[in-house]
Amino acid sequence: MDAIQRVPVAAMDPHRFRSVLPPPEFAALVNLIERSAAVLSGRVVWNVNSTARGGGVVELLRPLLGYSRGSGVDARWLVIGGDPAFFSVTKRLHNHLHGTEGDGGQLGAPERRTYDQVLAVHAGALAKLVQPRDIVILHDPQTAGLVSPLHGTGATVIWRCHVGVDSSNRIAREAWNFLLPYLGDADACIFSRAAFVWAGLPASKLAVIQPSIDVFSPKNAELAGDRVLAILNRVGVLAHRSPGPPAFTRSDGTTGRVGCRAGMLQAEPLSPGDPVVAQISRWDALKDPLGVLRGFAARVAPHSPAHLLLAGPAPAAVADDPEGADIFSAVCEAWHGLPNGLRDRVHLAALPMDDVDENAAVVNALQRHATIVVQKSIAEGFGLTVAEAMWKSRPVVASRIGGIQDQIVDGESGTLISDPSDPVEFGAAILGLLGDPSRAARFGSAAHERVRTHFLGPRHLACYFELIEHLITGAGIPPTLAPDQPGPPEPDRLRAIS
Ligand code: UDP
Repeated sequence: MDAIQRVPVAAMDPHRFRSVLPPPEFAALVNLIERSAAVLSGRVVWNVNSTARGGGVVELLRPLLGYSRGSGVDARWLVIGGDPAFFSVTKRLHNHLHGTEGDGGQLGAPERRTYDQVLAVHAGALAKLVQPRDIVILHDPQTAGLVSPLHGTGATVIWRCHVGVDSSNRIAREAWNFLLPYLGDADACIFSRAAFVWAGLPASKLAVIQPSIDVFSPKNAELAGDRVLAILNRVGVLAHRSPGPPAFTRSDGTTGRVGCRAGMLQAEPLSPGDPVVAQISRWDALKDPLGVLRGFAARVAPHSPAHLLLAGPAPAAVADDPEGADIFSAVCEAWHGLPNGLRDRVHLAALPMDDVDENAAVVNALQRHATIVVQKSIAEGFGLTVAEAMWKSRPVVASRIGGIQDQIVDGESGTLISDPSDPVEFGAAILGLLGDPSRAARFGSAAHERVRTHFLGPRHLACYFELIEHLITGAGIPPTLAPDQPGPPEPDRLRAIS
């Protein structure tokens, strides 16, 4: 089993938000930076999760910790390892928390033993690092079993759940029952939306904080059109060779060049003028890549010249996701099964993850190049991919489930489909936008503005800071973060908090 790994995080300067925030919000951010450095002086804010590559939690941690460090806060990131049996239990928990069976296995006594054994080893190692004045933020089911041992060190312990289900069912409750005994000592449990909160957790410890994206990261930073084309040509998605280099700006500000090739399954690369419908996600049944492929083949391809691009991480790269390889194989098999004329219009891309910044630049280019971005998830805590595409002013077609409902205002900043399993609704939504470019452009601009006002890092940092400050001063959960606060945070939330 892998030991605990420390992920280095470079400090990032929060003052760069001057260029995207209105002056009063930027002033509030400067105030927040000063206060957080003073209040958290002499304390470490530890974040613990179970992978350093792939998936939404990784995307969130890097900038949040980077801007915290840039604000003078000693924020650190640790990744726990595990054996395949542990990750198969935690993936089952993940699926159950989304209300779905996953691999259909049990969550009984043997699974608890597997879970406990791995976490007992990590708890011992972590307890040697964590000091009584520290704050520990544990992420997702993989780390819930660390709450009590770390609480025992005297530190303030927060557990954050990034997944959830809109209406609970028997399957979700099985996961809650498995995890609840571990959470009693948590000082706070954070969920991404009020509907995700479990029955059985004390109301006095609950907080709701919505995620954010980092608009300056290689994933989301501006990328000129010729760079987009050059990067997509380099990785093997586009046939057209651009005169410019496949260059991008790395997280540390230096210039990088995309040099990798994606694992492509396609008849021919795309031509620059092809309309492209794209879904870029982990290979996970809950992202429904098979449903996207079948819905596109049956309902979109016969009525438009569009191509479908399904992209995700090279399956072996994501340490805590044992199902990725099987789902990817199933999508490849479905591709082989497409009739000849249709197979030419579907492109599968497995993106190398060895260089995180390079992978991000490729995702950035894919999202910017797409005519429409889809996220046909069956469950979603918060769709980072949705927010990323919205920031790039893409029209998005996504399922009306989980956190996506808070992200897209249907008919204003994108299209929500009510029944993710209905290929007819899915196809009609895509065809509607392909056939009406001015509506698609309107959705795209509104989407960008919605991300700017609701889903940027400063608001997210402010919520975390407010929670931590309340907890360490014994004031409990701030009322503004309690789950009965209706709806998404107000645009001026940052000002209200700091
Ligand atoms: N992602 C990536 N490379 C890929 C596919 C996805 O970096 O090949 C990123 C994607 O851009 C997003 C994150 O992984 O930032 C996925 O987050 P999301 O909330 O959409 O789903 P999760 O994986 O957390 O279920």
